[in-house]
Amino acid sequence: MKEEMFMKMAVDIAYENVVTNGGGPFGAVVVKNGQIIGVGRNQVTTKKDPTAHAEIKAIRAASKYLNNNELKDCQLYTSCEPCPMCLGAIYWARLKVVYYGCTNKDSAKIGFDDEFIYKQIALPVDQRSIPMVRVVPPNTYQPFHAWVNKTNKKKY
Ligand SMILES: [Zn+2]
Repeated sequence: MKEEMFMKMAVDIAYENVVTNGGGPFGAVVVKNGQIIGVGRNQVTTKKDPTAHAEIKAIRAASKYLNNNELKDCQLYTSCEPCPMCLGAIYWARLKVVYYGCTNKDSAKIGFDDEFIYKQIALPVDQRSIPMVRVVPPNTYQPFHAWVNKTNKKKY
C-alpha cells in the first residue's frame, strides 16, 4: 500500500531524528504524483525555533521545490497528528489530504500535549491564558486600505 510506504518514511525520519539528537520524535513528507517533494523533521530545540515542527518544515520544503505557496495536489504524511499551528499551515497550503500515524493523545502521553492550544482556540479572546490586547494607532488600517486599492496585487 502506497500510503503505508510514505507513512513509514515519515516515521523513519521521526525515529532517526530521535537517535541523531535532531529534535522531537516527529517527521513528515509531502508527496505529489507519487514523489516526495518535501521532507521535514522536528528541529525546535536544535534550531531554537518554536515553529520548526516536521509538518511546517516539510511544507516549506515542498513549497520551495514547487516554487508555489499552494500545495493543492499534494498529500502530507506526518508521523503524528498535527498540532494547531501545523493544522493552520496545512489549510493555508491547501493540501489535498493529510495522513497521520500517532494521535494527539499518543503524543500527550510522552509529554507533547497540544490539547490546551485546541482548548485556547475555542475560548473567547478575553478568556485565553495569554492576553490578547487590541491596540489601534491611527495607521492601523493603512495596510488594508493599500491592499484593497492595489491594482497589481497577487491574490492568494
Ligand atoms: Zn505542529
